[in-house]
Amino acid sequence: MSNLHIIAVPFPAQGHVLPLMELSQCLANHGFKVTFVNTEFNHKRIVNALADETHVGDRIHLVSLPDGLEPGEDRNDLGLLCEGMQRVMPGKLEELIEKINEEESDKVACVLADESSGWALDVAAKMKIRRVAFWPASAAALALSFNIPKLIHEGIIDDDDGTPLKSQEIELAKNLPKMKTADLLWTCFHTLATQKIIFQLLVRNSKYAKAADWLVCNSAYDLEPAAFTLAPEILPIGPLLASSRLENSKGNFWPQDSTCLEWLDQQKPSSVIYVAFGSFTVFDQTQFQELALALELSGRPFLWVVRPDTTDGTCDPYPEGYQERVGSRGLVVGWAPQQKVLSHPSIACFVSHCGWNSTLEGLSSGLPFLCWPYFADQLLNESYICDIWKVGLRFDKNESGIITEGEIKTKVEQLLGDENCKARASKLKEVAMNNIKEGGQSYKTFKNFLEWMKS
Ligand code: UDP
Repeated sequence: MSNLHIIAVPFPAQGHVLPLMELSQCLANHGFKVTFVNTEFNHKRIVNALADETHVGDRIHLVSLPDGLEPGEDRNDLGLLCEGMQRVMPGKLEELIEKINEEESDKVACVLADESSGWALDVAAKMKIRRVAFWPASAAALALSFNIPKLIHEGIIDDDDGTPLKSQEIELAKNLPKMKTADLLWTCFHTLATQKIIFQLLVRNSKYAKAADWLVCNSAYDLEPAAFTLAPEILPIGPLLASSRLENSKGNFWPQDSTCLEWLDQQKPSSVIYVAFGSFTVFDQTQFQELALALELSGRPFLWVVRPDTTDGTCDPYPEGYQERVGSRGLVVGWAPQQKVLSHPSIACFVSHCGWNSTLEGLSSGLPFLCWPYFADQLLNESYICDIWKVGLRFDKNESGIITEGEIKTKVEQLLGDENCKARASKLKEVAMNNIKEGGQSYKTFKNFLEWMKS
């Protein structure tokens, strides 16, 4: 019997690959065959990270395409990467689909692409294949992109590169996080040239997403009712993590260090500060040391993810004698099995950069947050956490832009002593999880989506 064959195309960043892999796993569990298309660069990282894993499902086939950049080119330069992909990947994807359709009995029935890889939706449209856009972040962030024409029309941003023309707070709807024009998603890039590329891409991708057969989002209606009301074409199917959170994903760029789970087993319930900043964030030496000292002086157990590229690697980033002083009270790992860590009963709170996946994972574990956002949608997510859901606190920076050791220690104590905040966090977990239980909004949407996929 032939299977319905889906081509899944993530945007090549960790916070995009992982949730699309979750969705692919859900679809594979429902009998679909998935060909998951990474860039060659990320494919190598994923295969390396998987080397020690025993669990490799056979319904998801990992393949790769070139991203248009030379081996040494800077893939953290998003403008460069997006231009390279746009140049090369559409043609390569078309060839891949044609090859599958020629050689395999399971023809391609659908392209499921990250909204930020709109070019893949365009390929599907041209090849007359069904297409589904997947948005891995908050509905509010996508609603903001959809509202770009309105912001241009009202003279708030420039129509060519999105530069703010006025300094003001934007509130797209009541009960949505307010955003300063200076913090809009596309204004965080180092050069205006990159900002322009990304801004124009956002505008183009919004069009592709709206033209797709489905536009599904890794969020839940009850978490963001105002955003889903503002942009009703976005359909919630999250939080996606729940279906397979106990499995090891095939999408990690670094090998997961699971020894921290045994260490967590030895800690008291609700005692550990978990500190992780996602896949991108880089620390300068001063800020890294302030955080290290704060964790040391907190006197509490902590689990801290320090990726191999968290600092610039020119010198030992820790204060002198740090490891000896902290001893077994603190554990540092290169990459954690984060979903399992967050749902471990020893965790007390989450010091997070507020990437959307981390936000969803923390809230669906009922944890309170200390928010340490850097850029893009992280500021919006911080506002959801602190102002809308009220399940966390933000840090204040000093006049040099540093979050000091004293500030971190104070906020940790304040958060852990705030029983109301912890109670709201537990309640929010229930709210989020109810959406994916039978009868919940995300559950129903996903069921309809499956029926359509099978039709
Ligand atoms: N993550 C992980 N181990 C870590 C740190 C992060 O597995 O040690 C995962 C995390 O669970 C999340 C993803 O990496 O699913 C990061 O996505 P997010 O949107 O939070 O941040 P980004 O990396 O995109 O900034």
